[in-house]
Amino acid sequence: MGHRVWNFSAGPGMLPLPVLEEAQRDLLALPGVGMSVLEISHRSKWYEAINHETEQNLRQLLGIPEHYSVLFLQGGASLQFTMVPMNLLGGRSADYIITGSWGEKAYKEAVKLGSARIAWNGKAENFTRIPRPDELELDPNSGYVHFTSNETIQGVQFPTEPEIGSTPLVCDASSDFLSRPLPIERYALIYAGAQKNAGPAGVTIVIIRNDLLERIPPNLPTMLDYRTHVEHKSLYNTPPVFAVYMVMLVTRWLRDTIDGLAKMEQINRQKAQLIYEVIDRSEGFYRGHAHPEYRSVMNITWRLPNEELEKEFLQQAQANGLYELKGHRSVGGCRASLYNAVPIEAVQALRDFMLDFMHKHA
Ligand code: PMP
Repeated sequence: MGHRVWNFSAGPGMLPLPVLEEAQRDLLALPGVGMSVLEISHRSKWYEAINHETEQNLRQLLGIPEHYSVLFLQGGASLQFTMVPMNLLGGRSADYIITGSWGEKAYKEAVKLGSARIAWNGKAENFTRIPRPDELELDPNSGYVHFTSNETIQGVQFPTEPEIGSTPLVCDASSDFLSRPLPIERYALIYAGAQKNAGPAGVTIVIIRNDLLERIPPNLPTMLDYRTHVEHKSLYNTPPVFAVYMVMLVTRWLRDTIDGLAKMEQINRQKAQLIYEVIDRSEGFYRGHAHPEYRSVMNITWRLPNEELEKEFLQQAQANGLYELKGHRSVGGCRASLYNAVPIEAVQALRDFMLDFMHKHA
């Protein structure tokens, strides 16, 4: 096996080592099946068992009630920027809370399909915080309110759901899905690309409250209509079988090894704290991007005193086995993504490196 480095990638991100090992061990032949998961028909009873277990594991971990459907779709979270308004606008307008680059993208797609309003936009403040409740300009007649629970690029996270009254709440949870428990019943729809905390790229998980299916207009293209996938239990066409299988293994790991999402959240908070402490005590050598109250437990974003030092920091980090710490090209600086599978040892190594680098260069 090649040497594994500490990987702080924002996505696809690290997967739990025991999950990769199990997938590797069983790649040529699933136990009791004699064929690879890459080779079995999605109509076989074996794949149906994978599809079913993955859904049940998610239901158990998140406490998803029966009146919600769980879907495994393709097209990434980006296709949900289109499917959400296409299915849910129903001739009305929708409100978008924009706290970073992804929320902005979601809003721009909604505008193409109908009427969408901006309920709050953090762009003028460089996306450093989430809105206070009194800043939200909500339309009481809107079809839904959309927000991004964790902005992966800026590292800004909602600590809890925004207060929006009785309008259906829609969330892009791509980069903090499965990192903490969620009060599912506060949501009408949650979607997340798998490639951060849930599995590999290729599958997007959608959790939708069933009463919303009634507002979907007739004659939508079949593949873009949520009802198709609810009716066929995500098996209308060939699903991304390997990606779903990996989500099954990751959800087993979360349940059996981690002991659930409350425990996972505790571990994630501990990890983030290690790095935020370095930033906060660095007397301005490291400058966090996000406002401390709203900074992300998943994606930590910071700058150094100048770009030269940032370049050197990244180079030396890599030489020390710490990879993928470069900030997104649109914001620069550094970013450490501490998804579920990033072990505490990796974060301790990053903390030690940051302290050492600071003492040499401050
Ligand atoms: N939303 C968020 C919050 C994301 O982090 C990402 C990907 N980084 C996306 C949407 C887009 O996801 P995809 O690449 O799966 O379309």
